[in-house]
Amino acid sequence: MGQKTGIEWTEATWNPIRGCSRVSEGCRHCYAETVANRFKGPGEPYEGLIAKGGQWNGEVKLLEHKLAEPCRWSKPRTIFVNSMSDLFHPAVSFETIAGIFGIMAAASWHTFQVLTKRPERMLEFFQWIDQHPERKDFDSPQARSQLGTDHWIPFFLAQKASELLPDGGAGLTVDIKGCWPLDNLWLGVSVEDQATANHRIPQLLNTPAAVRWISAEPLLGPVDLSSLPYPSKVSGNLHWVVVGGESGTHARPMHPDWARNLRNQCQSAGVPFLFKQWGEWLPVLGQSEGVPIRGRKHSFEDGTFMGWAGKKHAGRRLDGRIWDEYPEATQ
Ligand code: SF4
Repeated sequence: MGQKTGIEWTEATWNPIRGCSRVSEGCRHCYAETVANRFKGPGEPYEGLIAKGGQWNGEVKLLEHKLAEPCRWSKPRTIFVNSMSDLFHPAVSFETIAGIFGIMAAASWHTFQVLTKRPERMLEFFQWIDQHPERKDFDSPQARSQLGTDHWIPFFLAQKASELLPDGGAGLTVDIKGCWPLDNLWLGVSVEDQATANHRIPQLLNTPAAVRWISAEPLLGPVDLSSLPYPSKVSGNLHWVVVGGESGTHARPMHPDWARNLRNQCQSAGVPFLFKQWGEWLPVLGQSEGVPIRGRKHSFEDGTFMGWAGKKHAGRRLDGRIWDEYPEATQ
């Protein structure tokens, strides 16, 4: 079984890549970077990935021995891909991304969840596949008429996976059932405020995916989905929204209305909503009944008062209940 995870919305993590670099405010207290700082010494897993000041240095490492892990896990799982990196980081080549997609296509009994802060590169990757010169090696009018126009893509992805695997992909199977886009892959973007939502969500909506989702964590400001550049495409094209406050020593508080408003928007658009966590801070009135507030306080401009409760105590109840909805295909 893969690495166990405390992430509420997944069952396992698979990290074939390590390393990243910060992109936006949501990265300020990057959990993966904090972990990497603990294990950056000579011979340790994150050696060479952290700069002097303690931030990611932009290098990434491909872990070839981890690539085939999901193929060895026989029990179907929901697997979060690259919790310690960003699959679409510019230092990860399209060839490598295609190989990782090949593993996900082959391990078709699992459901894979990918989350990126670089949707422009994700979109470019799909365009790169579409126009790839090697498609002629797999494409033929006969196969197209029997299997559909995108039938060649799973074969192409399997080829790229076998080029990465230490054993040359022995035993890797090609499953064309889900074909393209892969029906066992959920593609998502992280957003933290309106600006990142405006930039990232439209690109996600333009990317072919069986399930599209957003993770609004850490949520650092209000997000209005109806003010996006392509509002009409959200309904029916967005399949899941996860919201969470920031955790960790320097966590910033999340105004309860930011979470509530996203929940209300999801409810009106019929999009499943999962409230992952408050993070370290809890609104002092109402939500905090019975929860000890430990010293630190924060007041938003509208007078909403937040207290530091600690992640465990703050919990994940919003307006008196747990919100644990998932995309329909998984229910
Ligand atoms: S993109 Fe993700 S992994 Fe990379 S620095 Fe930002 S939060 Fe960390």
